[in-house]
Formats: sequence, C-alpha cells, structure tokens
Amino acid sequence: MTNKLNVLSDSALMAADTAHHLHPFTDYKALAAEGSRVIVRAEGCTLWDSQGNAILDGMAGLWCVNIGYGREELADVAARQMRELPYYNTFFKTTTRPATELATRLAELTPPGLEHVFFANSGSEANDTIVRMVRRYWQLHGQPERNVIISREYAYHGSTLVGASLGGMSAMHSQTGLPLPGFEHIRPPYYLRDGGNMTPQEFGVAAAQALEERILALGPERVAAFIAEPIQGAGGVIVPPDSYFPEIQRICREYGILLIADEVICGFGRTGNWFGSETFGIEPDLMTLAKGLSSGYLPISAVMVGDRVARTLIDEGGEFFHGFTYSGHPVACAVALENLRIMQDEGLVERVRDDIGPYFQDRLRELADHPLVGEVRGVGLIAGVELVRDKDGPVFFQPEGRVGTICRDHCFRNNVIMRAVRDGMVISPPLVISHAEVDRLVETARRCFDLTQADIGL
Ligand code: PMP
Repeated sequence: MTNKLNVLSDSALMAADTAHHLHPFTDYKALAAEGSRVIVRAEGCTLWDSQGNAILDGMAGLWCVNIGYGREELADVAARQMRELPYYNTFFKTTTRPATELATRLAELTPPGLEHVFFANSGSEANDTIVRMVRRYWQLHGQPERNVIISREYAYHGSTLVGASLGGMSAMHSQTGLPLPGFEHIRPPYYLRDGGNMTPQEFGVAAAQALEERILALGPERVAAFIAEPIQGAGGVIVPPDSYFPEIQRICREYGILLIADEVICGFGRTGNWFGSETFGIEPDLMTLAKGLSSGYLPISAVMVGDRVARTLIDEGGEFFHGFTYSGHPVACAVALENLRIMQDEGLVERVRDDIGPYFQDRLRELADHPLVGEVRGVGLIAGVELVRDKDGPVFFQPEGRVGTICRDHCFRNNVIMRAVRDGMVISPPLVISHAEVDRLVETARRCFDLTQADIGL
C-alpha cells in the first residue's frame, strides 16, 4: 500500500489538515477558513515553508529552540541512542545511563541546593509533578491542610487541568471550570499597567506584598507554596522590578512557604544566566525545566527538587505514587545532554549575557520612539514591546488583542515570526541569532508597527 500522504500536494495537505487535525490553542473555524502554513525545514534561526519562503524565527519555536535548528550532533546522538537502547523505563529500581547522567549534569548546572531531579515530558507535566510533591511534603510534615498554591494573573504554567489552574489565564479558566480548588492568584508585577505614580522599585515591593496579603487572608497554615516564572513569558513578557523577588523571598521565608521557580522559558540561557533565578536573585525550593533543556529537539522536562523537599520525600516518604512511562526517556536524555554540551562548549549563555543580549535589547529600545510603542522591556534574549493607543497614561487598546493580532499578521507576511500577547509583541529568538538577524528583526518590527498604525488609522 502506498502512503497517500507522501504524494499530497500542498493544497491537498492543507485540506487534510483542516479535515483531521485539531491544533493547540487554535480557533478551528478561523483556521479552516485560512488553512495552515506548512513548515518544511529549518536551519539556524530560519524556517522554510512549503511555498519556499524563508522566515526568521523570532520566537525560537515556542521559546525553546535555544541552540537553533539543524544541529547534526543532536540527530546523531538520537540515532545512536535509538540503536543502542531506544527505550527503557526508570520505574522499579531501574535506570539508564543517559537518565542518570542528565540528572547529575542538571544537579551541577542548577543553583546549589537543587540536587535531585524528577523527569517528565512537558512543562505541564513537570508542574503537575511539583503540585503533587508539594502536597505530599506538607502531608509528611503533618500539615495536610497546607495545600493551597498561590500563583499570579497572566502566569502560564501549562495546559493540563493542574497546569491551567496554576496559570492565571482567565480565558483558559472560563472555558473549563477552572481553576481547581486550592489555586489562588495575585496580581503580577506589571508596572506599565499598575505602576501608577510609584517608582519601579516601590511598585515591585508593593506587588510582592500582594502575596503576604493573600497568605494572611487565607491563613498561613493553609498555604503550601508560591509559584512564579522569573519573567512571565506567555503572559506578555512581564519583567519584575529588581525589588520584587527579594520581597517575595522574604515573605515565603517568613511564613515557611515553598517557593517554586517555573524556569520553562527563562532556563538555559534566555536571560543571560543559566537560569532566570540567578538573574533575579531567587532561591527556589523547586524549579521547573523544559523547552531549552533539549532545545525542543525532543520532548523532555524536569523538576529540580531542593534539599528541603527531597530529604522529606527520601527519608520519610515511602513510595511516591507518581511518574510517567517516559520519565527519563533515554533518547530524550541523551539529546538533552548533547544540547547542554553544545551550549557550554559554544559559550551561548555568556554570549547572551555579554554580547547578543545587550545588542538585542539596545536595538529594540530604539523602537520606543514609535507612536504605538508604550514600553520596550526585556532581559537577555527575551523581550516584549507593548503597543498602546496613547503613551500618555498609558491608554491601552480596546478591545484588547485586536491591534496585537493585526501587527502579528504583518510580521508573518513580512517573514518574521513574533507573537502577540494582548497588544504586545513578544520576542524570544534562538540564542545563536546573529547581529544581522537582530537588525532585520528590529527593522521589520518597525515597518510592521507603521503598517499597523496605518491599518487602525491612528
Ligand atoms: N511553564 C511555562 C513558563 C511555560 O511557558 C510553558 C509553555 N509555554 C509551560 C510551563 C508548559 O509547558 P508545556 O507546553 O511543555 O506543557
């Protein structure tokens, strides 16, 4: 039997996609009207679609292809591991060489005190794992009623029921009766929206104190943990003032609450350090890792477990009834190890810190003079450019999201991928992006802001 998919023309492929494929985070009717773009190949920071367009990937896929596309080394390692041992599990007192080597490597790379690793396959699964660990921890300490986890509005922690409950995305909540009980949300450190007359430093402390207020309102004896992305990525690249996390840290210590850093986006060099926690001075008890861990070449995620929780689980926990068929998958672990080797050998984190990160941030800030730009914010190779109706105030667009989508579509048509969050453009390119590619990205952004401005008649 011949596989008819091999001979499908582009238009037939699009028709088949519409007929059979339900995409993530997609308006199905709108997609059916337009059809999907088919990406066929990639190299470095460039994607090619089936029409032959070369597209600059300003998002590193979904914030994940840190070492860029087309790395033969990763393909070779994967092929070698598949031939030697394509799969075995890590249940029942068993391990594989790549799983243990990766656990050891992550214990070395992550900040001191995070010595233990639990593997999963996605950021969502890793965060689900953390919720189960945290609840188990408090149960073993004789405080099972300490089961509430506090997060923030606009947080993104995944798309499973627990991931979406941890997250603070109201659209996700309202579609499926979330959040589940036991998940609370405080305001984010969103200076442009909420800063008012405060300095960024004053506002950072005030925003952090929302945590203390919520703890006291709930009763500290009920609060298990607080979770935060160092920079809120999918929520619009919300960068906290420097004063925010020290105050968060103080509050967590004062009430004995576990602090979880979701490093799914900020981990592996994005902010110019290996982990966003280093950039912002966070000392987490648990850390979520995914995306850049394998640069997206294979699905893998990990929970870094600090001594406080690990000792309790190990010394007092008995069997922990949790895990996935593919926890510590040997091929994914081997690919992640090779990815980390490349990041280290090529000095990619230092490159983001000292060279391309500052260049990218400086060039992007040139866009601040554009009439639509309310703020350019970011660190290293992650940034948000927020579009506003009036810089004075600022006055945001109504309805929210329309202008961002217009601008995003202009970027796509100009063969640069940026993403819109509400009315901000977010950018997170591969860590290997060249200076010339940054120039092209910034110049295209300006052109697309002009086109957007013309479209909305401002
Ligand atoms: N946490 C953060 C901070 C994320 O950005 C994401 C994905 N964008 C997730 C968790 C969920 O990861 P996944 O999509 O792999 O489940």
